[in-house]
Amino acid sequence: MRTDELPHDRDGFRFRGGCNAIDLTATLQARLSPSPRELLSTPRDLARWLVSAGMTGSAPRTTARDLATARDLREALYVLAGKRKGAKAEAARKTLNHVAAGVAAVPCLQADGSMHLEGTAGGLLVTLAREAVLLFGSEAHDRIRQCQSPTCTIYFIDTSRKGDRRWCSMSACGNRAKIDAFRGRKRETDT
Ligand SMILES: [Zn+2]
Repeated sequence: MRTDELPHDRDGFRFRGGCNAIDLTATLQARLSPSPRELLSTPRDLARWLVSAGMTGSAPRTTARDLATARDLREALYVLAGKRKGAKAEAARKTLNHVAAGVAAVPCLQADGSMHLEGTAGGLLVTLAREAVLLFGSEAHDRIRQCQSPTCTIYFIDTSRKGDRRWCSMSACGNRAKIDAFRGRKRETDT
């Protein structure tokens, strides 16, 4: 399934990062607040995310163990996307490599020319982890940025020519920043 032409927000999930490995990190929202919002609360949520991400056409069977793996992988990806150093990054790297070493879903070329991933939910997570290894191990790692909104922690791959993309979504965070800047200016002129 081609997902690059779909809206960035699908079934309550955000897909603003440019690849699924980055978008998985957005399933824990409001990370900076005292009570972050968990979008992967149940195995069913994970199945919904995998469908929304375009990794599978129909909801796969998901277990509590798959959910735990998805969350561990997600937190590892979040640390690695932030290019942090130290023990936390080391633990994240190990988690990522451990998941990536599992049995991945098998990519199958369909008669209509599209690609289909054949495998369990666990296999799809392995595929996702491998995508992340290839991403973090490439020059694209330098292009991973975090949204500059003070309340948004979404990561994205900056594919702009100049490499100066600031927002996860121009229509969401970018627009809000523009409005805030306008209000700020207005206040300055008011006083
Ligand atoms: Zn944002």
